[in-house]
Amino acid sequence: KTERKIIEDSIREIKDFPKPGIVFKDITTLLSDKYAFGVLMNHLYQRYKEYNLDFIVGIDARGFIFASALAQMLGIGFVPIRKHGKLPYTTIGEKYSLEYGVDEVEIHIDAFRGQKDARVLLLDDLIATGGTANAAATLIKQAGAECVEACFVVTLTFLDGYKEVEKKTPVYSIIEVK
Ligand code: IMP
Repeated sequence: KTERKIIEDSIREIKDFPKPGIVFKDITTLLSDKYAFGVLMNHLYQRYKEYNLDFIVGIDARGFIFASALAQMLGIGFVPIRKHGKLPYTTIGEKYSLEYGVDEVEIHIDAFRGQKDARVLLLDDLIATGGTANAAATLIKQAGAECVEACFVVTLTFLDGYKEVEKKTPVYSIIEVK
């Protein structure tokens, strides 16, 4: 089996979650499979060890799991981007539109510890419409850092979300779902 196949096979599909018609990619079965989780983290480590990164940014909430693990492997810091109202200190926020209504993500104003032009990797479990990742990439810049790449374990390529993100940031994904 290839690395990609091992990772792909460890992700479970849940029909009609959270709404009818949606096939949800459940990564909890990847996380509990020590072999598949290890293959994924090693793959990410091998790719990013030469990138000279300063921080890994993870998106609330599944992105945190991969981003914090990778930050430790690379020996660098982890920064969370969270849904509105969750971060305790002064924040910068960015709104994005959903199918119905708007949502907002936030980053701490001092997230990159005053380091100028810090090199940052944005990491999340999955990209669908791209709204979340786009807003996150904007926040990274507003907080004074450079978003070197946006990485997703899964990209839903039947949605064009990744194309929006690609306009401003290189995108890397491990598994593509057509
Ligand atoms: P987007 O903003 O439409 O690209 O949605 C991406 C966000 O929604 C990510 O933070 C994902 O964690 C979450 N998400 C959307 N669909 C799924 C799914 O099928 N599995 C896991 N997370 C999902």
